[in-house]
Amino acid sequence: MAFDLSAHLHHYVAPHVLVVPYPAQGHTNPALSVAKFLADNGISITLVQATNGLLPQIPSHSVHGNQALKIFRKETIPSGLDHSKPLSGAVLKVSFDVMRAALRELLQKLMLEENPPICLLIDSFFGWGNDIAVEFGLSRVDLWTSSATTFYLGIHVQDLVTRGFIPATEEGAKEKIVDFLPGLSPLRVADMPQNLIPEEGLQSGMFIRFRSVIQSAKWADRILINTMYELDTNVIECLRREDHIHIDPVGPLHVDVMSVAPNSSVSLVQQDDHCLSLLDRQQQSSVLYCAFGSLASIDENVVAELAHGLEASGESFLWVIRPDKYKNNASVEEILPEGFMERTRDRGLVISWAPQLSVLGHSSVGAFLTHCGWNSVLESLSNGVPMLGFPQMAEQNTNLKLIVHDWKVGLPLLQQEVNTQKVERKHVQRAITAIMRGDEGLQIRMRAREWKEIAEKAIHGSSKDNLQKLVDDLKQGKLKHPKY
Ligand code: UDP
Repeated sequence: MAFDLSAHLHHYVAPHVLVVPYPAQGHTNPALSVAKFLADNGISITLVQATNGLLPQIPSHSVHGNQALKIFRKETIPSGLDHSKPLSGAVLKVSFDVMRAALRELLQKLMLEENPPICLLIDSFFGWGNDIAVEFGLSRVDLWTSSATTFYLGIHVQDLVTRGFIPATEEGAKEKIVDFLPGLSPLRVADMPQNLIPEEGLQSGMFIRFRSVIQSAKWADRILINTMYELDTNVIECLRREDHIHIDPVGPLHVDVMSVAPNSSVSLVQQDDHCLSLLDRQQQSSVLYCAFGSLASIDENVVAELAHGLEASGESFLWVIRPDKYKNNASVEEILPEGFMERTRDRGLVISWAPQLSVLGHSSVGAFLTHCGWNSVLESLSNGVPMLGFPQMAEQNTNLKLIVHDWKVGLPLLQQEVNTQKVERKHVQRAITAIMRGDEGLQIRMRAREWKEIAEKAIHGSSKDNLQKLVDDLKQGKLKHPKY
């Protein structure tokens, strides 16, 4: 008797996963990338987008999956974010209450459908994913979109308190060296993520929230992390073997989406693609790309010093300045020093949003002046571009430490003793010259280049294997249910 494949296909019920990214560019892109992999491998996906009034809709075709099996769909919930106020613990709390209620309501509906979700794949940042998973009897996979070192330090927060490293509120406390964690090379307390060393000490809302996020992540069936095993081997091994945490590196997570949908923009803010044709006309490795992510706002006086330093360096540049971060949506000309655009027009371009991945992948780009947001770091590394780090907030200072001291693929824009707000044009000029052409930057430029190949291998090797393992476990019903 002939084997009737169609009958078997007919009975295949794709395991259904609810994917919930946090509504910011740096969190949503990696989640989309994972969702796309799962959908392409026979997992049914419902992507929940929290609309926040700033980010346009995620284009469905960026995660189209296998349309024939109707395997991908999108739902929206309100984010409750109030953009008239700066992002604080209080603003986040209101927003999380709104999102959590909306997600519960959505799940109540989905659970009555023919193929209800069996798994919640949620950004660790939410922290409350575990409660929802327990309530609806779902297994839970967390997505950690920041560095492994940040996660590892979070896991050891109690050890850091017990050993007197935090709170680091006393004079000189931030200069102490943390050297007892086997997964890390020694680091200054000052290099730890800002949430761990807040001015207000252990009562800080951000500290308490960070701690609960980590606690909740520990209860997940597994944690997918946007990094490469090859980059964070020691930390990942310590987390697995000593801390007994199921953590799987699956990064860099940007490439899959882009390579599958090269003509579609997955950027959530409108971007300027015109800059790519300008890059085409520049010499190899001759352009400094400058961008500070989607959240940071750089003070106008700091922007002025950056501009003067850039001008004095004589290097070509492509600079992203987001006017929406400034009062009354000032124009770029108003934000920059008078005459700067005119004086640098033959070698510089300022735009409000770049197709960053394509820019970093362009052979004309020689280095990246970055705020060290985790996605930017991974994107730079996987394109072999050396970095000049200018951290602004969150764990960007920790990322800079890794870039400069551990991986040796970049330089700091400022020396340790210079406060960010005190940046002077001479510092900027010196650092730009060092990274673009100086002897000091030579080894760094060479080492950065090596990462392009390593990242490529991770995407098709270790990281892909971990994603495939998730697919297999979902299909074989091997994911555990969460607990408290
Ligand atoms: N990005 C972009 N165009 C820009 C600036 C940033 O596409 O002009 C993207 C960038 O490629 C990255 C994300 O926005 O994927 C920023 O994430 P990151 O973690 O670097 O920083 P955050 O925005 O979270 O501070």
